[in-house]
Amino acid sequence: LFITFEGCDGAGKTTVLDRVHDELEEKGYPVLKTREPGGIDIAEKIRTLILNPEHKAMERRTEALLYAAARRQHLTEKVIPALEEGTIVLCDRFIDSSLAYQGAARGIGIEEVLAINEFAVEDHMPDATIYLDIDPEKGLNRIHENKKREFNRLDQEHADFHYKVYRAYETLAARFPKRIHKVDASLSIEQVQQQAVNRILNVLSP
Ligand code: C5P
Ligand code: MG
Repeated sequence: LFITFEGCDGAGKTTVLDRVHDELEEKGYPVLKTREPGGIDIAEKIRTLILNPEHKAMERRTEALLYAAARRQHLTEKVIPALEEGTIVLCDRFIDSSLAYQGAARGIGIEEVLAINEFAVEDHMPDATIYLDIDPEKGLNRIHENKKREFNRLDQEHADFHYKVYRAYETLAARFPKRIHKVDASLSIEQVQQQAVNRILNVLSP
């Protein structure tokens, strides 16, 4: 089972994913957590390249292609082999991030970015996506409070950029209602965790 976690910066994807991972493991499920962009050596190197605050000159289609390239490598090297062993794979971000950030917020167009990502992932779409729904301004405030988080190129974007990301996620949730499960990320971390786990168990045995 391939599960992805999506949402705006500061929605709590990484934190919730960690907790969901530990809970499923305690319940006895074989489970693997990973992240995008990254998750394996080649893709972590592409991540560093994309997110480097000095790389202001990076053109938006270049950026979209690098995300898709990192996705392809991570998918084939790590995700697919784990799925073939019957492991539940929990992935922090996947294709919807590219559609929202590069397609909508950077303005390339969702369909254009979908096309290069279909090339990258072929038919390996997530079985389910947990979308952590947060007001983007609240998300950004959380990030500023979290001093542990590494600074990246996106932190220089204006609130307007993050609103575009947010609106794109809403559009995607409406377009793929069977796959994308929306969870209110302004609830307590325990409640968000519980809802995410319930939805995953429901996908496992409907
Ligand atoms: O979620 P995470 O903190 O790992 O993402 C790193 C940064 O990359 C974030 O600032 C996020 O907004 C950005 N990003 C992006 N486009 C993507 C995926 C992530 O701009 N497709
Ligand atoms: Mg995170």
